[in-house]
Amino acid sequence: MGVTVHFCGAARTVTGSCHLFKTASGSLLVDCGLFQGPKTLKALNYDPFPFRPVNIGAVLLTHAHIDHSGLLPKLIREGFHGKVIATQGTVDLCSFMLPDAGSIQESEVVTLNRRNAARGRAEVTPIYTQADAVASLAAFRPVEYETWIDVIPGVRARYWNAGHLLGSASIEIEFAGEGTAGAPLRVLASGDIGPDAKLLQPSAEAPSDVDYVISESTYGATDRPSVTSKQRREHLANEVRGAHAAGGALLIPAFAVERTQELLVDLIALMGRGDVPTAPIFLDSPLAIRATEVFRQNASSLDPEIDVSRLLASPHLRFTETVDESKAIAKLAGFHIIIAGSGMCEAGRIRHHLKRWLWNGNATVLLVGFQAHGTLGRFLAEGAKAVRIQGDEIKVAARIRRIDDYSGHADGPELARWIAARRPVHRGVFLVHGEELAIAGLSDRIAERIIPPAQIFRPLLDDIYELSTSIPTPVGAVRGRRLAPESVVALDWHNDMSKLVLDINDQIEAAADDRARRVIIRRLRRALESEQ
Ligand SMILES: [Zn+2]
Repeated sequence: MGVTVHFCGAARTVTGSCHLFKTASGSLLVDCGLFQGPKTLKALNYDPFPFRPVNIGAVLLTHAHIDHSGLLPKLIREGFHGKVIATQGTVDLCSFMLPDAGSIQESEVVTLNRRNAARGRAEVTPIYTQADAVASLAAFRPVEYETWIDVIPGVRARYWNAGHLLGSASIEIEFAGEGTAGAPLRVLASGDIGPDAKLLQPSAEAPSDVDYVISESTYGATDRPSVTSKQRREHLANEVRGAHAAGGALLIPAFAVERTQELLVDLIALMGRGDVPTAPIFLDSPLAIRATEVFRQNASSLDPEIDVSRLLASPHLRFTETVDESKAIAKLAGFHIIIAGSGMCEAGRIRHHLKRWLWNGNATVLLVGFQAHGTLGRFLAEGAKAVRIQGDEIKVAARIRRIDDYSGHADGPELARWIAARRPVHRGVFLVHGEELAIAGLSDRIAERIIPPAQIFRPLLDDIYELSTSIPTPVGAVRGRRLAPESVVALDWHNDMSKLVLDINDQIEAAADDRARRVIIRRLRRALESEQ
């Protein structure tokens, strides 16, 4: 029957990474990530998988980020009993990131059920609990980089450092006898690729001479000016000085792992040299605190120039582990720095701090990572005048600033170079894990110059391709698509609704007087009634 690949996630989106490979002797997954962003997409997390978990022989996990690993506890709860193969760094990070994700699922459902009860709707159960996540860790098996391991009968794999995150990997997979003239069929799944010059990680490595490359495209349309670590620190210093001059808190929503540690390294160095005013830096994230500890343990695999132990001892750095400590920060006025998750402001303690500070023109929010379509971070980045947090409308008066220098992802030219270095690529390149424009941008960058356009594929969610043929052959979505392609790529109606409510509020507030306000409300009411 050959080999097929089913793109179960991260097709025209950056979240929910999951590729299902099927052979005559069994099935395996590369990644099993959580969908994030628009509600329509997040709803997929609650739906059944588009395959039977019990039939999956093994999972090859590229790295610990939740959009790659976050549905593993659900997979295991629903009957998967194989191994999750990952590097030691990934195993260490998942050992607390997955339980943390479980507790987020539990608390989100508590909030949702409170609202549902008030509206007389049925109770929802969490996708999985913290206990499910802890139980799932028993399935993990560590693997060394650059060492072949047997996965399922007839399939072996080898992990390469992807330079994206502690433990991150691109995974080379060989399907015995499925390639040209009985040779193995060789597939390379990129995972997420790090940029060329990253603070704590080496550059990405991977083999060449493969049949297929499945490449991420997150920043495929972006050409980032290359910066040295000195310039990057200088950009950060400018932002810190600006926030200090504004006089309020500096909030930095950051991914708990890696981005947070990079920021800490630079902030403490800047304060130490007197380049920015000294102030307390609150690391307000139990997850980030634990991640910082994992970094300390894995210091030998990181850049030897950085002394993680000295860093942790800085008098400026305060770890706020408990909820009470976290709440105490909210009482502070004046300039201080708070780093908290999540990086796209979708969950975690950053949402409380945003609620406390967003309406205040003295505060600064500094966005340092990728902000996916439909997330609160993306709305802020795009200049929303008001946002909704936990059902409350909050005006945005704070300074919203952004630096891209700390990205964990390669930009367009770097991704194109990474793909070029894999040549010869005999059969095809699949571009996944990117929004529509990013994938189109990367496709333009590599078409002709690097890969013949006919060999570039941009799968939609739930597309299935036969790989054993001389070029990849679409075999259609066997069980049908879970979502219409347009609802994957467009902002869904929930976002349109939020925007409408905010616009109505704006108009009504901006009206000259109460009489004018009543006129607007009457007109809206008439428009509504004419629809019935
Ligand atoms: Zn990642």
